[in-house]
Amino acid sequence: MSTNPTELEELGKKLLFEKKCGWQDISQDEEKEIFELSEQYKQFLDTSKTEREAMVTIEKMATAHGYVPIEKASKEDRKLFLNFDDVCGALVYINDPQEFSEGFLMNGAHIDVPRLDLKSFPLYEAEDMAYMKTHYYGGIKKYQWVTRPLAMHGVVITESGKKVDIVIGEDPADPVFTINDLLPHLSKEQNEKPASKLIEGEQLNILVGSIPYQFKPGKNAIKLWILKELHDRYGIVEEDFVSAEIQLVPAGPARDVGFDRSFVGAHGHDDRICSYLGMQALFDIEADKTNKNLMMIFFDKEEIGSMGNSGAQSNLLERMVNATLLHYGFNDHSLLMNSLANSKFLSSDVNVGIDPEWKSVNDPLNAGKMGYGVCLTKYTGVRGKSGSNEAHAEFVAEVRRAFNRDQVLWQTTELGKVDQGGGGTIASYLAYYGMDVVDCGTALLSMHSPFEVASKVDIYHTYKAYKAFYKYL
Ligand code: MN
Ligand code: MN
Repeated sequence: MSTNPTELEELGKKLLFEKKCGWQDISQDEEKEIFELSEQYKQFLDTSKTEREAMVTIEKMATAHGYVPIEKASKEDRKLFLNFDDVCGALVYINDPQEFSEGFLMNGAHIDVPRLDLKSFPLYEAEDMAYMKTHYYGGIKKYQWVTRPLAMHGVVITESGKKVDIVIGEDPADPVFTINDLLPHLSKEQNEKPASKLIEGEQLNILVGSIPYQFKPGKNAIKLWILKELHDRYGIVEEDFVSAEIQLVPAGPARDVGFDRSFVGAHGHDDRICSYLGMQALFDIEADKTNKNLMMIFFDKEEIGSMGNSGAQSNLLERMVNATLLHYGFNDHSLLMNSLANSKFLSSDVNVGIDPEWKSVNDPLNAGKMGYGVCLTKYTGVRGKSGSNEAHAEFVAEVRRAFNRDQVLWQTTELGKVDQGGGGTIASYLAYYGMDVVDCGTALLSMHSPFEVASKVDIYHTYKAYKAFYKYL
């Protein structure tokens, strides 16, 4: 007995889940939308290199879309901007304050990125050159950060409380900074070391100068030339570095990658990609008239474990919802807790895309494929799902129903094959409140490197997914 080929095809169409490439058979309109969205996203990347810069950009964009800082808003306002310490915050879209007990549809991403921070006492001289010491932030491969132009972004708060913004290295006329590496001719010993030790943490020091003050050698003369320059420009002294947040990030703008420009290459896609797309989805949702209360949340400190009062492990989300409830006159703790418990949360963060050079780390059936749409991740964690919040099947069903309804191209993903390593997101910290949470974001190549790569069609479907979530859940 044999089955004829058409019968098999029919059965396949009915029963098989087909992964589809997002570039396949797209219309000209769709092509235009895909490429335009990435142009806007690149602008966000270039103006938001630190969490503080991201908050400034978010406020500007939100204001242009009718959002009002909560301190200035009236009870009649329905779009609020919440800023916590200039490093994290939220956009709140209120459909009906009487529905707070039903909870919010929340999307949350993080705006901190892996990078190098200046130490509290950074400046020193060695071999008649001046350097600044850094301490890396987040999980980086240290060897990737040497011999490349780095820009300096950050703030200094002086003893008197004056805030000084610093950006050096982005304008083509600016100088940049760099970490040097050993020449290959003398690298015999270095070459024997494991990659984790090729460049040690204490070797991540940036070159910042070499001219002694007034061209006269002397004790601290090079340091003093630099400190004089910084004092003239910013009014700061050496002690001010102790109350500063200064980051070194790759200099220059985000770029298209490939002859066909199908990818965006940039530092810090993780997780400005989900931050931007979640925000844009919220801005664009109004035309479709949701009947829910919505939030887009921007967390800090995710890359170092979500600790601190701006991280998802603190009660930040509770403070955000409480501020919103109080604004509309609800001073009621059980309403607050019900509102949190009845919310639904998309934990929006990046995932791994299969790299043909490193295929063995993934289970190809359950790994993200570049260009195959947004990643929906039921669970993260390491070993036996340790550290994962694992979303309930019912909630994943709701989310996939919403995605399918809007023709969102999606794929299911795990971060690497079983026991290969793994990782976590903010998801479990939010599930603490009783709400349903699932991870959902864009696949990347070279995650956590100075130049991460994302597919433009995945960016587009991530945006569509976030919009569908706000529309249909
Ligand atoms: Mn992330
Ligand atoms: Mn990360």
